[in-house]
Amino acid sequence: MKIEITFLGTGSAIPTAKRNHTAILINYGAENILIDCGEGTQRQFKIAKLNPCKLTRILLTHWHADHALGIPGLLKTLDMSDYSKTLYIYGPKGTKEKIRLLEKIYGKFRINPEIHEVSSGILIDEKEFLIETKPVPHKMPTNAYALIIKDKLRLRKDILKKLKLPSSPLLGKLQQGKDVTFKGKKLKAKNMTYLQKGKKITFVLDSAMSNNSIKLAKNSDILICESSYSSKEEEKAREYCHLTAKQAATIAKKAKVKKLILTHLSHKNEHNTKLILDEAKKVFKATHVAKDFDKIIV
Ligand SMILES: [Zn+2]
Ligand SMILES: [Zn+2]
Repeated sequence: MKIEITFLGTGSAIPTAKRNHTAILINYGAENILIDCGEGTQRQFKIAKLNPCKLTRILLTHWHADHALGIPGLLKTLDMSDYSKTLYIYGPKGTKEKIRLLEKIYGKFRINPEIHEVSSGILIDEKEFLIETKPVPHKMPTNAYALIIKDKLRLRKDILKKLKLPSSPLLGKLQQGKDVTFKGKKLKAKNMTYLQKGKKITFVLDSAMSNNSIKLAKNSDILICESSYSSKEEEKAREYCHLTAKQAATIAKKAKVKKLILTHLSHKNEHNTKLILDEAKKVFKATHVAKDFDKIIV
């Protein structure tokens, strides 16, 4: 099953004509997970021809406006669209109170959100994937998240065909790694299956340099990381607890990821994308800079 990632917003505190505030949508099977929801995210869904009613979960890294101002509008739209599923919302400490305050201002969201405040560890453990979080240093409680698609045993169709093994519960047992008996013959699961390696995608959106980002991103297939500033602005990055392109690339290198995608660019770097990319590439070659509506399939 493929993972489709759509960048709905790749700007930072101040949007530009080309970059909206931060939001990233992940589609994996029936799951549609939104990471952050800056102002205008619901219109970005429409422009990308995506349906917000298919959302299953929202992961908020933190409550700075450029990551969360789109929440009330999006929840109101779901409300008016008769969204009837449970919407799972995960965020750092204070998320429950913030949603309650939004309801106080804008009226009750007549959908059924289930809110979880998380700071460290595995927050979702489903059959095929899990999501892990670690706190990262920023101006307020902030989480980084990793989506981990689990390894899976796949059946070796060539051998099944050779043995003329029919479609039956035996196949399910083999896929669970259990040996089975077929026509009096013992079939070992390890000979009948192969391991399909899982995938890992890590999201670090708004953070100062931190070991937690390196730990969480360890061996990721893709690291999607904020890169608000260039190295010339390192002082500013430190002051506002953000990363430069070089620092983001250093995290990618130390975490031994396969690919780095930079996002959350400062509006001042709107025309400096090449500089940001070049700085990062000096440290970590497999770097790309995301644009709004970029789509990647993993
Ligand atoms: Zn931000
Ligand atoms: Zn922030």
